[in-house]
Amino acid sequence: MRQKIVVGNWKMNTTRESGRKLVEALVAGCGQETTVRVGVCPPACYLPIVGEQLQGSAIGLGAQNCHFENSGAFTGEIAPLQLADLGCRYVILGHSERRHVFGETDAFINQKVKAALAVGLEVILCLGEKLDERQANKTNEVLDTQLNGSLSGLDADGLDKVILAYEPVWAIGTGVMASPEQAQAAHVYIRGWLKSHYNEKTSQRTPIQYGGSVTAKTAAGLFSQPDIDGGLIGGASLKPEEFLQIVAAGR
Ligand code: PEP
Repeated sequence: MRQKIVVGNWKMNTTRESGRKLVEALVAGCGQETTVRVGVCPPACYLPIVGEQLQGSAIGLGAQNCHFENSGAFTGEIAPLQLADLGCRYVILGHSERRHVFGETDAFINQKVKAALAVGLEVILCLGEKLDERQANKTNEVLDTQLNGSLSGLDADGLDKVILAYEPVWAIGTGVMASPEQAQAAHVYIRGWLKSHYNEKTSQRTPIQYGGSVTAKTAAGLFSQPDIDGGLIGGASLKPEEFLQIVAAGR
């Protein structure tokens, strides 16, 4: 049985004070959670203070992005080694906003995935099709391309610390969630890809989260699907009560 993983992606939101209150509520509400794996990914500038607040709790610290080099002349970037040094457990890579707003390619994401894994981070690798691609029945084709490109060169052991997040772009931040059946079908496709490119064991053990407009009301329906192993939560992760209910739906 795969453990459910619920991770909050705060994106470019919160201040020191609002973040402090949010973490306080999360630690009080699920700081010792063991059934569901819980993580939060605050903006990079708040990683150290959120990390301190999370100490002694079971909530893991994660970053929203990183570079593929561990040092050098890359103004404005953050190294995987620096994230590990700050106590991060997770890093989100290939988020649709990175792909479509900042133009990140699968080849670029692949370099980051390898660099993050090399310093011991767990990678939450996001995949998903745009609306026109779904309407043109190209969802599986897009997933193929993203999986092939982003995971290129990784063997089955390399996938040990990879969590996949199926996030249809049309569902992110839109309030239009994929139905549990639509999400389940994509997850089955991804699991099949893992089986044919790796093996049955890798396919069965790799967690696949769903992300895209998940709320407290919709989480249970999604998480009851056999191949949906939790959620990557954007907007709802900024509301402590809502996020705690989503975590509870994973129990
Ligand atoms: C996300 O940013 O990964 C996400 C899923 O956002 P939202 O839950 O707001 O759609």
